[in-house]
Amino acid sequence: MITPTDSLSDIKKGLDNKSFSCKELTKFFLDRIEKANKKINCFITVCRESALKEAEKADLKSNSVPSPFAGIPYANKDIFCTSQIRTTCGSKMLENFLPLYDAEIVRRAKNLGLIMLGKTNMDEFAMGSTNETSFFGAVKNPWDLTKVPGGSSGGSAAAVAAGLVPFATGSDTGGSIRQPAALCGITGLKPTYGRISRFGMIAFASSLDQAGFLTRNVEDCALCMEFLSGFDPKDSTSANIPKGDYSSELYAKLEGKKIGIPKEYFDGNLDSEIGHCLAEAKDIFSKLGCVLVDIELPNTEMAIAAYYIIAPAECSSNLARFDGVRYGFRSINSNDIDSLYKNTRNEGFGTEVKRRILIGTYALSSGYYDKYYEQAQRVRSVLKNDFNQAFKKVDVILGPTTPSTAFPLNKEARNDPTELYSSDLYTIPVNLAGLPAISIPAGFGKKELPIGMQLIGQAFNERVLLNVAHQFQLHSEWHYQIPKFNESCDE
Ligand code: GLN
Repeated sequence: MITPTDSLSDIKKGLDNKSFSCKELTKFFLDRIEKANKKINCFITVCRESALKEAEKADLKSNSVPSPFAGIPYANKDIFCTSQIRTTCGSKMLENFLPLYDAEIVRRAKNLGLIMLGKTNMDEFAMGSTNETSFFGAVKNPWDLTKVPGGSSGGSAAAVAAGLVPFATGSDTGGSIRQPAALCGITGLKPTYGRISRFGMIAFASSLDQAGFLTRNVEDCALCMEFLSGFDPKDSTSANIPKGDYSSELYAKLEGKKIGIPKEYFDGNLDSEIGHCLAEAKDIFSKLGCVLVDIELPNTEMAIAAYYIIAPAECSSNLARFDGVRYGFRSINSNDIDSLYKNTRNEGFGTEVKRRILIGTYALSSGYYDKYYEQAQRVRSVLKNDFNQAFKKVDVILGPTTPSTAFPLNKEARNDPTELYSSDLYTIPVNLAGLPAISIPAGFGKKELPIGMQLIGQAFNERVLLNVAHQFQLHSEWHYQIPKFNESCDE
């Protein structure tokens, strides 16, 4: 029998034993999506026909490449280009954009015979932490439909949490995989910068953007890493560093592993119920034989300021390509080239995207470049150095993913964008340093909303990171909890 919360290995077993066909499996999830999407808006595009066709092929084993994971359904964040399938990046600018090619991660998934069910909703151009900046409307958190799912990969997180898809891809520039994973009570991995190709992933801030996964558990993240990560010559920032056998290392014992506890992550900014859950998690690690080591990441408080210069600076340059000439939206109210540019960008972009383009353009302009951009890059080096020092003493670092649980959906009331920016406090330093990090469920707050724990690893050492996170899941039950909302998709 198929259940909406089956892990990838459960599904693979079911397919191998012929407990269900790939078509039944695909239809099962597509039917759930049809029911749930009206309520939580987590998909922008659903690929029902092509998915069922692919599933039939998988059942007949007529795929060109035989693969052990053929037939497993998944979804892509709508930031990944999909050949001849609408790719919007959550923006009016790309509302009807049909890419000519697949992103590398999509190509690899296709080659393995994975079945794409659709494209998930997201903050416009991945800028946001609530999914409310999407042109296609906000996503709702399946744990409480009045709360945000987090962002920008909120559609992927909500879809996995609601049991609409076994796993989904995401992108993380400043926390966009880990934060929604935490707020939706699922597992979210941002690998080391360069570990997964950025080819065909619509650029926000190129030196920070990293593709990754939103899954039911750590084991599934390890599998995703095995089949979708790795060097790609088409991406000049892709790292040609050998991958490990992520799955087999999951079971290594943790005795003697050193877990760093940064004092800056446990100060007054942190909600007490999150602090309480993390204290319990630390106990579990101690019982598993880990040594908890107090560490310092003394420059943490400068991270947000540096990120909100670097990310907008890079985005102002990356988004210059959306001018109404080559592809995407074009304003019809123009009679010369200047007004075409202006009107297209004015009508095509939403408020948050415009705000970032303005900040970025300002920070890069002559006279201000040294004052802001260069200074922010200096801060970035200092933060990297903080982590390097810490990793001389410890194997992984433990902290919160977010300062609070999911908060109310209420775009209109959010007058001060910097308030939201400050909630990226624990995720942003990781992107600035290019490190891998994972968010895993670690408990619930008083309002029955999930709490995430973040584990940060050393560059290109996802194996140890996944090992530590998996051992926690072997000794905790939080990742098995599912929202009541899921029942409403069975009826
Ligand atoms: N919340 C952050 C921002 O708005 C992170 C976004 C991301 O990781 N894509 O920039």
